Formats: sequence, C-alpha cells, structure tokens
Amino acid sequence: MSVLIVGSVALDTVKTPLEEHADLLGGSASYSAVGASFFSKVNFVGVVGDDFPQAHIDYFKTRNIDLTGLQIVPGKTFRWSGEYMWDLNTRETRSVDLNVFEHFNPVLPAGYDTTPYVLLANIGPNLQNHVLDQAKQPRFVIADTMDLWINIALDELLRLLKRIDMLILNDGEARQLTKETSLIKAARKIREMGPRFVVIKKGEHGALLFGENGQFFSCPAYPLEDIHDPTGAGDTFAGGLAGYLASRDEATVDFNTLRKAVVHGSVLASFNVEKFSLERMRSLTDADVAERYEVFRQMSHFDLA
Ligand code: AMP
Repeated sequence: MSVLIVGSVALDTVKTPLEEHADLLGGSASYSAVGASFFSKVNFVGVVGDDFPQAHIDYFKTRNIDLTGLQIVPGKTFRWSGEYMWDLNTRETRSVDLNVFEHFNPVLPAGYDTTPYVLLANIGPNLQNHVLDQAKQPRFVIADTMDLWINIALDELLRLLKRIDMLILNDGEARQLTKETSLIKAARKIREMGPRFVVIKKGEHGALLFGENGQFFSCPAYPLEDIHDPTGAGDTFAGGLAGYLASRDEATVDFNTLRKAVVHGSVLASFNVEKFSLERMRSLTDADVAERYEVFRQMSHFDLA
C-alpha cells in the first residue's frame, strides 16, 4: 500500500552548540517520506527550485519514493535556518526564505488521488486542505502542524481538523491550541474539534496516543546518549507512523495497530536525531529498525504484580 505525503522540501542550515552545517537536505516532506519509505511506497508531493541538488533527488529515488508529484520550478529552493540551545530542545528559527515555496500549488498527479493513506506533513493548513480537496475518499488522513499555523492560520487549521482522522502535534502546540494545561484535557478538546485520534509528542519524553472511548497509549522515548540534530524528528515520526499504517493496510484502522504505528514512528525518529539532516537514514537497515522496536517493547513491558 502507498502513502501520499505532501509537505516542504528545504535546504536547511542548522547550528547546535557544537556544530553548524549549511544547505542540508531538509523539509517536512523529505523527513516524512524517508521515514515512511521504511515500510511502504510513497507518493511524494512538493516543490523545489532549479538549485536543488540532483543527488537529493537520486537519494529519494533509491527509497521507493515516487517523485511524479515533485515540482521543479525556476528559482531557489525553500531555505530554513535554526539554532539549538544547549538542551537541544529549545530552538530558535534564524531565517526562513520561502523562495519557490511561496507560490506552491500542490497538485496530485494522475493516480495519486486514490492513495488510501495520506500524510499532510507540516505546511500551511490552506495547502493541506487543498490537497484533501483533490484526494478521493482516502481511508486514513493524518495531519501534522506547528505553532506558526495556530498563530496565523487558525481558521484554516480548524477547517482541516474536521476533515482528518488523526492530528499529530507537540505538547506546547496542544496547549496553545486548546488553552488547556492538562494534555489529557487538551487531547479531549482536540478530538472534539474533529480528528478521532490525536498524538501528542513530548520531545525527549515520548508520545501519547488518544483514541475513541477513552483509548489511550503512552509510548516511551528511547534513551539516546548522543543527539546530534533534533531537526525533523517530528516529521520522521509522522512518516514512520503513516508508512507503518499503510503497510498494514487494514480496512478499518485498529487501535492496537495505531499503538504499534506510534512505536515505529518513535523508532525512526530516535535514529534520525543521531546525525545531521537525513544522514542516519542513509545507513539505516530494516534489521536496525526491528532491533530497536524490540528494545522499545522490552522497555515498556512489565509483569503482573
Ligand atoms: P521539525 O524539526 O520537525 O520542526 O522540522 C524541521 C523541518 O521543518 C526543517 O527541515 C525545515 O526545513 C522545515 N520547516 C521549517 N519551517 C517550516 C514551515 N513554516 N513550513 C514548512 N516546513 C518548515
């Protein structure tokens, strides 16, 4: 089964207290698509300028990512730059150059519109809605978002929430969207806004999954000793989750499958932060993924008293 992924494709400049690297492959769609590609085929929708390195396109192709929906237009690729503080959790955006992204009109090529699983990776909710307008009866739609859209495009975001099955956001964003301090109350409020399922990411503390009738799952975080670049962890998580769901291809998505999807997303994200950009993904094998999934399983298991 395939998953349709739309989002940003970027050249990032990332600074941590120890290192700085410029013009790295980045963007929400890039991380999400590579994450998903460990489990399923990806139909990719995005835009880049004519300065986008061919090597990145070649890399996507090696990952079973269909690039018919990647628009290459005259101009410069979207550029984003961010700086992390010592805790590697706090991040400041240093610059954003929209470039060709400013006039991005996501169009689903022939055949993409019937993709059963859809991941609307982090981009403006107007574009996410525009993609959904073109999709024909998708089975399961997941959307990722960020604080920026809650601040500047709330109406579009609220319209989107009524059309999706699952929203993924981080704890700060959940509080910002609902004005609730309790994440339990926040998730309940978000579910009342539309999506049947909500995932709240808590950075280095794991992720919470909320479903119907009080269904709840708490996924631990992998105890990583060395984080090199947290950029794209959330996007890789969303991609791994969506790709795993697509690989299971269930007529009705089961909560137990969603729990496993959240763990698979967490596994992929935990690898991604081990190196800058998507570098760790390049050497990652299915065996590595399976091994770390087993570590997650053992970490969360305990016997009856
Ligand atoms: P994350 O670390 O999950 O927040 O994702 C970081 C990625 O999001 C970077 O690779 C950026 O290129 C990309 N990004 C940053 N700002 C935006 C934006 N406003 N819209 C879409 N993508 C963005």
